[in-house]
Amino acid sequence: MSAAPRLVLATRNAGKLRELRELLRGQVPGLDVDTQVIDAETAGAPDVPETGTTFEANALLKARAVADATGLPAVADDSGLAVDVLGGAPGIFSARWAGRHGDDEANLQLLLAQLADIAPEHRSAAFVCAAALALPGGAGEHVERGELRGTLLQAPRGAGGFGYDPILAPEGSQRSTAELSPAEKNAISHRGQAFRALLPTLVQALAGAPVPPPAAP
Ligand code: IMP
Repeated sequence: MSAAPRLVLATRNAGKLRELRELLRGQVPGLDVDTQVIDAETAGAPDVPETGTTFEANALLKARAVADATGLPAVADDSGLAVDVLGGAPGIFSARWAGRHGDDEANLQLLLAQLADIAPEHRSAAFVCAAALALPGGAGEHVERGELRGTLLQAPRGAGGFGYDPILAPEGSQRSTAELSPAEKNAISHRGQAFRALLPTLVQALAGAPVPPPAAP
């Protein structure tokens, strides 16, 4: 019989679950990451609408809803691309910038068209990720942010990754993030940074240490 689950990741994305398991592997005595860290679908948690107005708010509201639905600590993330000359857009609307949720090619082409007249020196942008931990019943929560800054290219390059990867070249890199190996991208990515920043709190929480309650509004 496998041991009871101890942590839920509020995602249906298998790649994110794999990343979180690898980060946690060996960090918590007695935690079997392969059976005790599970995704939202396996945990029977509902899909949570992203009704917040910031990455942090969306990550927290997903983590809270999944923690309360499952009775287990939950981790959630929210991410997107923030373009400086557009005042941070597409931001939290990154997944549906061209209208249809998850149409990566249309989103990327619309953004390139919007920036057609913008010179290379003004094409700075960042992938942003907020990663949140929530305990059931409002017992505690914590959120961290990671950013990968770079420059937007004039045309897509590379076949790896997803979303806006083919048009962001990280600072100091000649390649787009779609031209990096998964390991190279994880080492510098916004998501990797946010999850690594959350890790100490997560490890403590799984070991039974308290996590601060939500801040007063
Ligand atoms: P979500 O946080 O998984 O909902 O992602 C939101 C959207 O942001 C995605 O659909 C992509 O358009 C964009 N995005 C987030 N992270 C990345 C990334 O690492 N590369 C490219 N696009 C990303």
